[in-house]
Amino acid sequence: MAVVHLLGTGAAFSDARRTTTMLAFESRGRAVVVDCGADVVQRLLAAGIGVDAVDALVVTHEHPDHAAGFPLFMERIWIGGRRRPIDVYGIAPAIAQARRCYEAFETGGWKDVPEIRWHGVEHSEGAHVLEDARWRITAAPGTHGVPVIGLRVEDVLGGGVAAYSCDTEPCDAIVRLARGARLLVHEASGGFKGHTSNEDAARVAAEAGTERLVLVHLPPDVKDADLEEARRTFPQVEFGEDGGRDEF
Ligand SMILES: [Zn+2]
Ligand SMILES: [Zn+2]
Repeated sequence: MAVVHLLGTGAAFSDARRTTTMLAFESRGRAVVVDCGADVVQRLLAAGIGVDAVDALVVTHEHPDHAAGFPLFMERIWIGGRRRPIDVYGIAPAIAQARRCYEAFETGGWKDVPEIRWHGVEHSEGAHVLEDARWRITAAPGTHGVPVIGLRVEDVLGGGVAAYSCDTEPCDAIVRLARGARLLVHEASGGFKGHTSNEDAARVAAEAGTERLVLVHLPPDVKDADLEEARRTFPQVEFGEDGGRDEF
């Protein structure tokens, strides 16, 4: 059984309970991390995932709340004893942003810092992200102010599928990405340009035929009563909480 750890569940600005939205997909002690807008290593440790257990990092898009913690991620895995290379995946603008952030720091004196292996992902529906003994991960573009990808994560060993919308308006490509998944992790910042309301996220889950829906990228002070209308469309919906985990 694979697990998604909700390392963070907040929007770019949220309340004191939530940091920026970051996820880790874990299978048998190894993890693929998605986004690093804040101190993702602290959140990984809180989830019981050590710096050597991270097989890959996916940066979904260039916004600070998803990419700005990359230099801190590198510093902390290096000091934490990581020596093997780290594979980093993303569409071109996301990778460029992470590189720029990292290059803003003088790291020439960091002895034995892990090699960064950059992997470009096409900004197109069904784009291949990575495939190994544990995962088959593909992507699809969302609709946001900048190029962005959502992810479809298949657990090769257990057969479960989870999808993550990343930052997006309600969008058909994300419905197709999530088709038949056990779990959809969808953003719900609100019903304004580039983002999604609770009710529209529920509609996406219903159209995609997923079993469950967890909402992330949440604004301040959300409360369960806010889900009343969304539950009429899709009963199996809940707000994600920092430190939460879901099997799929
Ligand atoms: Zn964004
Ligand atoms: Zn965001």
